[in-house]
Amino acid sequence: MAVSKTHPPEWVMEAFANGVRLFGENRVQEYAGKRVALAAGGLFTDPEPAKVHCIGPLQSNKAARAVQIFDAIDTIDSLRLAERLEQAAAETGKRLPIFIEIKLSPEMSKHGLIPDASELHQLLERLPELHHLDAQGLMTVPPFADDLERVRPYFHQLRLLRDSIARRYPRLALHELSMGMSHDFSVAIEEGATLVRVGTAIFGARPSK
Ligand SMILES: *Cc1c(COP(=O)(O)O)cnc(C)c1O
Repeated sequence: MAVSKTHPPEWVMEAFANGVRLFGENRVQEYAGKRVALAAGGLFTDPEPAKVHCIGPLQSNKAARAVQIFDAIDTIDSLRLAERLEQAAAETGKRLPIFIEIKLSPEMSKHGLIPDASELHQLLERLPELHHLDAQGLMTVPPFADDLERVRPYFHQLRLLRDSIARRYPRLALHELSMGMSHDFSVAIEEGATLVRVGTAIFGARPSK
């Protein structure tokens, strides 16, 4: 996945022209604006259209808008958000691919469900009834470390969690592991990533805030 957040639509179109079909954006507002330009550029009517995932935290009150513009939401971090997305997807007649975001350590950003949390298990039990959500896998953002061997255990842990969920919840098909960014995707792939989210290594540094 090419993470195009903060970059102008022209850059997304250039990546598309060079064969990229999967993009990541992190803000509803920002992407809603860019999407107009991308649609005009033909990215969604191409025989092999662009898909854009939401990889940033999503507030429940933006769920309906997010369902309209994104092809998947990779940052489900509460049962409440899942229920809101289910409702919004049902209203638009869409089946929405989702990933559950997992928080593996206290140092990590505040988003994501922790593996032992009862809320994660409530969500996993509820998902088969949320017919407009297509739960595909788990996603995580580990703490940053220059030494990749310090990041590896997080990726390994996410894979073990996926495997234990597969045993415990056989009705779900949570196969995908979205993990790894520009600086650590190599070890993420070694630990079983099926999707890496790469921004800086493709588009260069993002403008600082
Ligand atoms: C910005 C972002 C990325 C991409 O990060 P890079 O270090 O630029 O590759 C990946 N995942 C998430 C969740 C992000 O917010």
